[in-house]
Amino acid sequence: MTVLANDLADRIVDGPGGFSGVDGDEVWAAEVRRLLTLRGATLLAHNYQLPAIQDVADHVGDSLALSRIAAEAPEDTIVFAGVHFMAETAKILSPDKTVLIPDQRAGCSLADSISADELRAWKAEHPGAVVVSYVNTTAAVKAETDICCTSSNAVEVVASIPDDRDVLFCPDQFLGAHVRRVTGRKNLHVWAGECHVHAGINGDELADQARTHPDAELYVHPECGCATSALYLAGEGAFPADRVKILSTGGMLDAARESSARQVLVATEVGMLHQLRRAAPEIDFQAVNDRASCKYMKMITPAAMLRCLVDGADEVHVDPDVAAAARLSVQRMIEIGQPGGDE
Ligand code: SF4
Repeated sequence: MTVLANDLADRIVDGPGGFSGVDGDEVWAAEVRRLLTLRGATLLAHNYQLPAIQDVADHVGDSLALSRIAAEAPEDTIVFAGVHFMAETAKILSPDKTVLIPDQRAGCSLADSISADELRAWKAEHPGAVVVSYVNTTAAVKAETDICCTSSNAVEVVASIPDDRDVLFCPDQFLGAHVRRVTGRKNLHVWAGECHVHAGINGDELADQARTHPDAELYVHPECGCATSALYLAGEGAFPADRVKILSTGGMLDAARESSARQVLVATEVGMLHQLRRAAPEIDFQAVNDRASCKYMKMITPAAMLRCLVDGADEVHVDPDVAAAARLSVQRMIEIGQPGGDE
């Protein structure tokens, strides 16, 4: 380690909200880039990361896109700036690589809303049912799953299952309700899980926003659980349908570059605003709910990143048998329809 890295590392403080004490400034960014080169590592950052983390990363995108980039990257070490299930998915798809997450305490309330034991018990109540799980799940839950899905292909995944088979859909109740409404399927059982962030995006709020911003468009990015309630409510008519765009991250950025709208409301985690404002500075992007900030995503701080690169921690491990079973459910997802996942 250099004197500079030592000096910065000495300032790191560990607290309940994560590691702090280091600013994400130019000196820090240069040190991060130097340490990444020293480790032969590539840095992948989720769209909902802090702006400083997004700006220093090699790639920014959603979880599935980043997992695919991880698998194809020539580097042997992947530093994944996101929450834990995302780093696990990268490890599932790249079992021979070292995958590091700057703070393994960065969890996900949606992924935590069902455990592998709970899923096994649910399956026992519905013998013969096909299990479809949203990608926001732990590796252990994916291993108990027949087909994973993203919100972009959840309808296609469920439609691919014979009509006479029961379907168990977990863990997101909003996405499950959306799929049930679109497919009209009566034998779709939905787990009552949810993400704490999306609880703040409700129907009254969306309807209010539509009234007070009559010319604004609404972008809903469905790849993270925080937006699935907006997806559901937009379908219920809480916002005029002709002004709603359901878009992946890449689609959202393309739409922003081509849009003639003066104002766009964004129903997703607030981290996405950083990239949109960079892509189309002339548009006024506003969060539907500016409290929709994921505290887990924000645990990947500049201090955590520095600690990760200096100490090689935290390394993500997935039991090889669990990873093999989980990989099958993820691969089935990729084979059915468009799982989304572009940057
Ligand atoms: S925003 Fe919600 S679904 Fe996304 S990582 Fe955070 S807790 Fe999980």
